[in-house]
Amino acid sequence: MRLAPDRRTLLLGLGAAGLAPRVLAQPRFVVPPLAPLRMEVDRITKITVCVRPFRAAGPRLDVERVAGKRVVHNYGHGGSGWSLSWGSAQIAAGKALEGGVKEVAVIGCGAIGLTTALTLLRAGAKVTIYAKDRAPYTRSARATGTWSPDSRVADAAKVDAAFPALYEQMARTSYAAFQTLLGLPGEPVAWTDRYTLFDGPDPGVTFPQRPTTVPDIRFFGVPLRNLAPHWNDLEPSQHPFPVARARHGTSMQFNVAELAHLLTSDFLLEGGRIETRTFNTPADLGRLKERVVVNCTGYGARALWRDETVIPVRGQITWLAPQPEVRYGLYYRHVNVLPRPDGIVVQYGGDSEMWGYGSEDETPDLAEAEASIRTIAPLFEAPKA
Ligand SMILES: Cc1cc2nc3c(=O)[nH]c(=O)nc-3n(C[C@H](O)[C@H](O)[C@H](O)COP(=O)(O)OP(=O)(O)OC[C@H]3O[C@@H](n4cnc5c(N)ncnc54)[C@H](O)[C@@H]3O)c2cc1C
Repeated sequence: MRLAPDRRTLLLGLGAAGLAPRVLAQPRFVVPPLAPLRMEVDRITKITVCVRPFRAAGPRLDVERVAGKRVVHNYGHGGSGWSLSWGSAQIAAGKALEGGVKEVAVIGCGAIGLTTALTLLRAGAKVTIYAKDRAPYTRSARATGTWSPDSRVADAAKVDAAFPALYEQMARTSYAAFQTLLGLPGEPVAWTDRYTLFDGPDPGVTFPQRPTTVPDIRFFGVPLRNLAPHWNDLEPSQHPFPVARARHGTSMQFNVAELAHLLTSDFLLEGGRIETRTFNTPADLGRLKERVVVNCTGYGARALWRDETVIPVRGQITWLAPQPEVRYGLYYRHVNVLPRPDGIVVQYGGDSEMWGYGSEDETPDLAEAEASIRTIAPLFEAPKA
């Protein structure tokens, strides 16, 4: 990283010579040379689509008795399932273990099921995961992989008074847990530089439209103070992009393939069991030997539990061949780009978080994929303004 001395650094030097008051040096950040992103439609390796399980009231975490079992629910985390997973797991596991329970069934093997099962196991319980699919075939495996604790997690007008504190507890617990997974082989969790760019080249592309089924929602979100590094505006002399305005931040990234693999392996190595099983109705739980069940079925809860409060919010990712030399993400004209070991993630997010709301269509849309790539391409073609 290149660091340019500024006036304060100079003052520090003068201070050392006894000529000026001593001030701390604050080197000016200059974006280091960046490997260019290869935004070419013929580098598409696949297009994946999944739905976020959105609930207006926020994730479901209550307890009920069904088919002779005590069922703790842990589903409906919208676009924040990975980000909130460990915190939500801690709450659900606490409820499951009440009364000294020693054996627990977890239904589901996505982000929420895996973290819940590991949390229970590490608290001393005997745990079996029962699930229709496991990584890489869960919806969680199709997530972008970024720290996004307030992405379509609830409707601000529909949450109860206790939700903001509960949400903050989930986010902070998760954040702390993810810090323990940094620096591991394959980088299941990493920090990466991100750039948000404004007012640059007009790519002249049109995205296919998607009708939304409801009027606007004010999605829940509260600032989580002192959790992640601050974002800063960059002056033109600090960055290489051909845009009028740029911001820089550093954000946590989940390399989902590696993360899901690590959680699965850890669970099995630490003595957990995974059994492939499909439940068609809640009554099917009656056949389990465990008396306590944690329901981590994500969007699957809409069908299994006939829970129509779970609303699909469609999201699509276009994958380009990996570029291991790229270590930064960017966001421009509603397109998010994230470098992952398994490919370059390119994702159009529409002009509001309502994009894809109400749609459970998991069919890839090639026109959207190509438009998202063509939006970013000019950033690496145009000379700097
Ligand atoms: C495009 C997109 C990008 C996203 N990006 C991010 C991101 O960057 N960061 C982030 O934090 N979140 C992100 N999310 C959100 C995140 O992916 C979800 O919140 C998360 O996957 C939910 O996890 P889950 O474990 O609840 O559900 P799932 O991953 O769907 O897992 C459900 C599990 O339950 C099982 N199951 C379901 N029904 C049954 C049944 N009837 N019988 C047996 N088993 C069953 C399934 O087989 C599976 O094992 C994104 C979502 C989308 C769609």
